[in-house]
Amino acid sequence: MGRIHLLSEQVANKIAAGEVVERPASVVKELLENSLDAGSTRIRIQIEAGGKKLIQITDNGSGMLRDDALLAFERHATSKIKNAEDLLSVSTLGFRGEALPSIASVSRLRLETKAGDESSGTVVEINGGKIFKVEEAGLPLGTSITVRDLFFNTPARKKFLKAESTELSHIASLVTHYALAHPDKHFELHSATNAVFIAVPVEGYSERVYQVFGKEVLDQLIPVAAAQPLERIGLPQPPPWRRTEEDQQPGSRDPGEIRLHGFVSKPEIQKLNRNSIYVFVNGRLIRDRLIQHALTDAYRNILPPTVYPVVLLFLELPTEEVDVNVHPSKTEVRFRQQTVMHDFVRDSVRAALMKARPVPQFATEIRAHPTAGPSLSAGGRVAMTEGSAALAAAYVAPPQEFTLQAPVPPPINTQFQFSGGVNLEGNAAVSLARAPKVAESDGCAPPLHDEPESVSELAPSLASLKPLGQIRESFILAVNREGLWIVDQHVAHERVLFEKVLRQQAAQKVESQRLLMPLVIELTPAQQAVFAEISDELAKNGFEAEPFGNRSIAVKIAPAGVDASQIVHMLHELLDQLSHEDQALNMERVCGRIAASIACHAAIKINMPLEHNKMEWLLSELAKTECPMTCPHGRPVVLRYSLKDIQKAFKRI
Ligand code: ADP
Ligand code: MG
Repeated sequence: MGRIHLLSEQVANKIAAGEVVERPASVVKELLENSLDAGSTRIRIQIEAGGKKLIQITDNGSGMLRDDALLAFERHATSKIKNAEDLLSVSTLGFRGEALPSIASVSRLRLETKAGDESSGTVVEINGGKIFKVEEAGLPLGTSITVRDLFFNTPARKKFLKAESTELSHIASLVTHYALAHPDKHFELHSATNAVFIAVPVEGYSERVYQVFGKEVLDQLIPVAAAQPLERIGLPQPPPWRRTEEDQQPGSRDPGEIRLHGFVSKPEIQKLNRNSIYVFVNGRLIRDRLIQHALTDAYRNILPPTVYPVVLLFLELPTEEVDVNVHPSKTEVRFRQQTVMHDFVRDSVRAALMKARPVPQFATEIRAHPTAGPSLSAGGRVAMTEGSAALAAAYVAPPQEFTLQAPVPPPINTQFQFSGGVNLEGNAAVSLARAPKVAESDGCAPPLHDEPESVSELAPSLASLKPLGQIRESFILAVNREGLWIVDQHVAHERVLFEKVLRQQAAQKVESQRLLMPLVIELTPAQQAVFAEISDELAKNGFEAEPFGNRSIAVKIAPAGVDASQIVHMLHELLDQLSHEDQALNMERVCGRIAASIACHAAIKINMPLEHNKMEWLLSELAKTECPMTCPHGRPVVLRYSLKDIQKAFKRI
């Protein structure tokens, strides 16, 4: 890292201004970013009392020369940028030169640092912004910053700090995220009493996810990777005096590419908020509405609109393509080519989801319900004490053992309490199900004469399903070599019709039927407003309806397949749904909603007997759909009890 200098006033004024030290976690964030910028490969963080009493970060990075160690505490002193142009292509996490002085002004800070080419290191101590000690000392290479008594001189801010455990969990989640973004580095987080988080360097990102969250989480994720060359268009031109000859010739300079990699969750994982969505842009953790919108679009018709996936995405793009100087806390960015970014993320994630077509398993579906829980905050897992880890292991016993097993005595529920405050339900049935395996050679269980299950999770073949019959005239039971499947007949048909209507919409030929008698439907004022707004879209979707008197409409033509008795209900529901949407209605959304509504109302109902050939037809149509595993509202369409699970339950493997 180069030498530190003061930014000119003119440059300093261009930097998004504001205070960044809000709480212990923001101190940790700034110091951690500094350590990463200094090229550290090993970072140790020690916390006491949730960071209120002590925050100490020790790294093995480049360290600072003696003069720099003092200069670092001046406002707008940085080694990372020099002039206003540099702000257009920031490649470090920091660049504002404000963190150290801000932190030093509200704490008792001690800096120990030694740069590679110096024989000794420097110690600086500052109390509430006033330097009171500078001395030479023998120190190892790198930097250690100790921040004690945060906000000791600003009691008003101190009052706003949350409980120690809350502050620690914020810090833990922050450190976890940076560890995820840098699998090749060593991170340690210690509290006064125990090691909260330790991540040794690993080979790659999946290894890191496994290390941090465990196998269960990794199994629920689908890897994504994509790259797209950037067009030259949109790249900012260097100022005339810095243009090279190369820049003059159009097309000669490689504008680079955008790359994306990471993980997105299978549709059965549903979260009630966006807290499990992590997006990194060039190694920086950000919150960005554009990317969030792209993700929502990618999951459209796979997840219901009110729930969210788990996402861990790393975006890499040329530094000129992203403006990081938007907000003082540097958690927001602005992409220069917003539409390109949006569509790239949407399409890459969508493609990964389509390719994976994950099959919901019985047991995961039984347990699947939207959760707000801290699934991807490492606090839950890494803060476990040894005892609770053992209990958790019992809980995460293969979930399929809850299902299809010999009757067991009524389960006794016990509640386990994590130190992190996460409640886990234990079930006595688990331990019964884990009884020793039946001896293999008892003649009762000859090995299955079949090739080993060679089923690829990625391409389950619905096309080979043979229907056996229905359960309660609602669920189709079917088999193929992969195992036993249960198909919800209503949602399966809904998926088939939904995609059919979407295709018809695209071709502008939605099938319709003339009603024997016009249907007069009374609307509430809110419904009337939406009707006026979407009447064109309704017309394109096979409706012919016109105002009838003050508050009613008369429907003469309706989409094919929807029973006349359903039309009133369907229109009311649709208009209500759209009136509750908080986003402006756009045509694509409206058409999607209409297609889902037509599909739902025209689909085979449950409690309806189906002839064998009808079941065969439905399964083969389902197999042809683009997204056969979930209905347009995000519910699973099929459940699979895999051959492996069946063998396991019969104690054959
Ligand atoms: P910024 O990171 O925006 O430059 P800071 O106030 O966070 O501003 O840090 C000021 C300067 O101190 C940095 O530019 C860097 O040169 C130096 N510095 C801070 N922390 C470290 C560290 N852990 N290792 C080496 N240098 C550091
Ligand atoms: Mg910094």
